[in-house]
Amino acid sequence: VSGSRHLLVRGGTIVTMDAGHRVLPGDVLVSDGELVAIGGDVQPPPGAEIVEAAGMVVLPGFVQGHVHLGQAMFRGLAEGRELMDWLRERIWPLEAAHDHDSVYWSSMLGVAECLSTGTTTINDIGLVHHADAIFEAIRDGGLRGIAGKCLMDVGVGVPPGLAERTDDALAEARALYDRWEGAEGGRIGTSICPRFILSCSERLWEGAVGLCRDLDLPMHTHLLEHPREEKEVFDALGESQMGFFDRLGVFDTDLRVAHGVWLESHHLDVLDGRHLTICHCPAANLKLGSGIADLAFLRGEETFDVGIGTDGAPCNNSMDLLAEMRLAALLQQYKQGPGRVSARDVLELATSGGARALGLEDTVGSLEVGKRGDLVVLDLERPCTFGPSPVSLYDRIVYTAARDAVHMVAVDGRICWRDGTWPHLDAEAIRRRPAEELERLLERARLS
Ligand SMILES: [Zn+2]
Repeated sequence: VSGSRHLLVRGGTIVTMDAGHRVLPGDVLVSDGELVAIGGDVQPPPGAEIVEAAGMVVLPGFVQGHVHLGQAMFRGLAEGRELMDWLRERIWPLEAAHDHDSVYWSSMLGVAECLSTGTTTINDIGLVHHADAIFEAIRDGGLRGIAGKCLMDVGVGVPPGLAERTDDALAEARALYDRWEGAEGGRIGTSICPRFILSCSERLWEGAVGLCRDLDLPMHTHLLEHPREEKEVFDALGESQMGFFDRLGVFDTDLRVAHGVWLESHHLDVLDGRHLTICHCPAANLKLGSGIADLAFLRGEETFDVGIGTDGAPCNNSMDLLAEMRLAALLQQYKQGPGRVSARDVLELATSGGARALGLEDTVGSLEVGKRGDLVVLDLERPCTFGPSPVSLYDRIVYTAARDAVHMVAVDGRICWRDGTWPHLDAEAIRRRPAEELERLLERARLS
C-alpha cells in the first residue's frame, strides 16, 4: 500500500508545532521518508500516494515519553491497587510469565493502539526477558521507538524469574544495543532501563550508569511516582530517591524519568544545574493513587524537559495520547487555576516538547522541512468537534478530538493507519493472537 516514495497530504490545515507555532494552509509532501515541502500548493511527484485532507488538521505525529508495550495485554488485570501492590500482586507475576510470543503479541497490540490513536514515536521500558520481541514488534509495526530491557536484580516481592544476576542483566542490555541501535534506518533506538530504585542493587545502578556513559545512551526509569515508594526507599536504604540517584551518578546520565509526581522546588538543589527529562503520566498517576504532578512548575524550570505518556495499559487503561492530553489539560486547570497551562502547552508535550525530551528534536516533533515524515491527520469537521474560527485549533485538538478523529497516521512517510485500519498489518491477527497468548500466559502465571 505504501510502497510509494512520495506521500502528499493535500489541502489540510497544517499545525506545524515549530518554534513560531505557524499554522499554514496547504499541502505536506514527504519523499523518501523526509518532509520536503510544507504549506501552499505542491505538485505531486509521479507515483505519489495522495491523502486528501481538505477540512482536516495535519499535525506532527505524537511522541509518547513513557509506555510499556510488554504490558499491553494486561489491561484490566490489575485493578484497584496502588503502585506497590499493583506491581507485587499482579504486574510482576504477569511479566514473569511472559514468553517470546506473548511479548511479541502484547507489544504488537500496543503498537497497533499507538498508531490508531496518533502516536508515531514511543519511549518504552521493556521486560526483564524476551526484550527482543518488543523490538521486533516495533520493527514490524512501523512505529518509531526507543526501548530497552527492564533491569531488575533485587527487591521485596520480586518473583525469582525477574531478579536476574546483575552481570547477566547488564550484558543483555549491551547485547540489545548491539542488535537494535539505529535499526530500520534509524527508526529504532535503545536505552538503559533500570526499573526503579526498589528493584535494582547499587551494583546494577552503577553498571547501568557505566553503560550509558560507554555506549552514549540515555537512561529511562521511574522516579518519585507514589509516596509509599519514597517511604520504602527510605526504610530500606536510609536515604531519599533523589539522594540515591545523586550519590550513584544517575543524574549525570542523559536521564528520562517517568512520573516525577513528587518533584518540588527544593529538589532543584540536588540537581544543581543538571538536566532531567520528566515524562508526565497523569492517568496512571490517578489510577494508582499516586498524585497529580505540578506541570506549571516542571515546565517553568530550565532544569526540566517535559513530555507526556500513557504508561502501560494496566494502569491507565488506555494508550491513547489524545485522551491523555485532555486529562492532563483538565487536571492542570484544577490544580493551577484555569488558563495557567494552555491547550497548546499540553499539545507541545506530545509533539515538539516531547521530542526534545527524548533528544529527537532534530528528527520529529514538528512539521519542518528536513525532519522525518511522521504525521497525524485529524478530522475535526464533525458535530462532536464543532468549533470553527475563531475557536482555537489547539483547544479543539486537546479538549475535543478523540481517537475516532484520527484519519491517517504516517511514520517515515509510510501510512500506518488509514480508514480505520493498519494497511501494512494483519488486523485479524492483532485481534486474535494477543487473546490466545494471554490465555496461555495466565495458565503459566497461576495468579492467586
Ligand atoms: Zn512505567
